[in-house]
Amino acid sequence: MLGNRLGEWMKTYGFLLTALALFVSAPALAQAQAAPEGTPANARPIVLHAARLFDVESGKIVTPGEVLVEGDRIKAAGASVEHPAGAQVIDLGDTTLMPGLIDAHVHLFLHPGTAEDLQTVVESVPERTIQATLSAKADLMAGFTSERDMGTEGAGPADTAVKRAIDEGLIPGPRLRISGMAISILGGHEDAIGFNPEQHVLGNADYANDAEQIVETIREQHKEGSTFVKVYETGRDQMVPAGSAPCLGDPVCALNQLGPQQGDPEFWEFHTPYQYTEDQLKAAVAEAARLDTNVGVHDQGEPGALFAVKAGVASIDHATQLSDVTMQLMKEKHIPAVPTFTIFEYFADHAPTPEAAAHEHAMLDYKIHEFKRQVAAGIPFAVGSDVGPFPHGTQAREFELMVKYGMTPAGVLQADYLNGAKILTWQNEVGQLRPGYYADVIAVPGNPLEDITAVEHVQFVMKGGVVYKEQGVASRE
Ligand SMILES: [Zn+2]
Repeated sequence: MLGNRLGEWMKTYGFLLTALALFVSAPALAQAQAAPEGTPANARPIVLHAARLFDVESGKIVTPGEVLVEGDRIKAAGASVEHPAGAQVIDLGDTTLMPGLIDAHVHLFLHPGTAEDLQTVVESVPERTIQATLSAKADLMAGFTSERDMGTEGAGPADTAVKRAIDEGLIPGPRLRISGMAISILGGHEDAIGFNPEQHVLGNADYANDAEQIVETIREQHKEGSTFVKVYETGRDQMVPAGSAPCLGDPVCALNQLGPQQGDPEFWEFHTPYQYTEDQLKAAVAEAARLDTNVGVHDQGEPGALFAVKAGVASIDHATQLSDVTMQLMKEKHIPAVPTFTIFEYFADHAPTPEAAAHEHAMLDYKIHEFKRQVAAGIPFAVGSDVGPFPHGTQAREFELMVKYGMTPAGVLQADYLNGAKILTWQNEVGQLRPGYYADVIAVPGNPLEDITAVEHVQFVMKGGVVYKEQGVASRE
């Protein structure tokens, strides 16, 4: 059905393809046009060959590595696979074959250059949607074949259009889980606080102030095309000197409290108010479950993290401060934390004033300190970068930072593939090179278990059997 509609569309709007050709590499476009989601991408089977293959389940490297692709699915994978008559063999040389990367926390509708909270104020939704299509392409070319978009941040349900265009093969981009806007309370996290009230500046989330409104908002977002629910559970965040009172949202007060011990993580206390009670979050989780999906929360710390974990959310995003009780429950219920180090690092390195930089660095230092406790406690993790405020396509740095602060390369990759697929509810579709899974395959130079930064230099990208990027192909027959 989609194929017929696509054919009609192309007859009518063929001129647009000329514009698209500037935007997608020619071979990828040719295949993308012929291969809307769910239809066979290739008439010929493809055998991918490389020096190595990462086996996700065992966390080990297999040598050499081969993947047999038929249509949009993997037929076989391992050290060697059958080479059917007529198959195209693509030799990727000294690389490692891996499943496409998963980013469990992105914002396709955000870009660097304009303050995050001002993009919804100064840019129109059509303008932001064009940005989102560029973001989707950049992420795919960096090897991310599945993503969870954690809120359009003021662009309403425009993510539905981006997802549909990707699924129909009109533009390149990852498989997407989308939420529309986040759900938040009046006067809550990122609700355009501090502007002239007469201007009635819009926040970047949909308001819901009690359980009934949460359910109503989820139903409205579902009608508009959302495929999971994003809730802001905490904020605004503050680092304050130990023993002093939080500044109740006054940034000048907070900055004035910075003292000579600002580099000492033991000196600081982290404060973040919760937004919803455990019962209100339970209402969100129950409504999402009724729609066969789940809830992801922006959740920086306690007591909001405990409320969210007790309510049964799919993941705790940012997870800067987790109590021992919360961590124990996360282990028992297998709820991953998504640390999003890259955004913390970016804000610390790009703060507008030295005082703001000191505050951001204090928060990053505290976060690293707490992450080491979380790793030691053995809680599950997934990999999400919060890309958007920093450039799309650069977010594989998240893997490097999670290794730098205490995880093994194999541990981070397994967290990304297995827990990422689970919170995107695609655990039998993506995240492993196994028969029946989508043919989402990347190749990285060298061995990522020896040098995790290999994932920041993805050379080859296949999604659903369609090749979108090919660098360093040794041979093709
Ligand atoms: Zn985010």
